[in-house]
Amino acid sequence: MVFSVPNTTTQGSANAATDNTPSRSDAGDTAFFVDPNQPTNDEVDLPRIEAAVRTILGAVGEDPDREGLLETPARVARMYAEMFAGLKSDPARHLAKVFTEDYDEIVLVRDISFCSMCEHHLLPFTGKAHIAYLPSGKVVGLSKLARVVEEVARRPQVQERLTQTVADLVENRLSARGVAVVVESTHSCMTMRGVRKPGSLCLTSAMRGIFRDDPKSRSEVLGLINRQS
Ligand SMILES: [Zn+2]
Repeated sequence: MVFSVPNTTTQGSANAATDNTPSRSDAGDTAFFVDPNQPTNDEVDLPRIEAAVRTILGAVGEDPDREGLLETPARVARMYAEMFAGLKSDPARHLAKVFTEDYDEIVLVRDISFCSMCEHHLLPFTGKAHIAYLPSGKVVGLSKLARVVEEVARRPQVQERLTQTVADLVENRLSARGVAVVVESTHSCMTMRGVRKPGSLCLTSAMRGIFRDDPKSRSEVLGLINRQS
């Protein structure tokens, strides 16, 4: 069994999983490293977002021209370009390179941290994804699983779809005999507005192949995912 717990303390992001490629957050607001593994979205219409943010500020009764807010629209526009950079890219590319390996036990990468944006409120939801698969002769670099989560998260999302998308990608690209994806996250739209329930956790799972069909395999993989370490 391969059991990998990415070190998420250094960056608080899935980028920190197992490699040290530069991330955008390392650089300034406007100039950042071009990392071929990071999603980019050059089609984002920044001036249009800026105009919309100015409109929102005015609509809530603020003065968009006061000093503290002057650069806010441009800042928000760049933030959205970053948060939605996965919209125009194909996360499957991270799973294109596979290795033939005679290994037929569970591979699990746990605690892949992510930040996504709830498509209903445009508020962040943050948490961890756990991905397990049972190979059928093909394995993938462990950090690539974290890349997939990162990229699928960088879209307007719902947690249910994020979970299923990741499971489908791993199942299809690796022809895995089984895939289990469990996602746990906290939704700002539940904690800071509406019902205002800080601390509430939303759990979703997607089981494919043997983990869906065989209760014994499913409880084995869930035991690994839930194992206290
Ligand atoms: Zn929401």
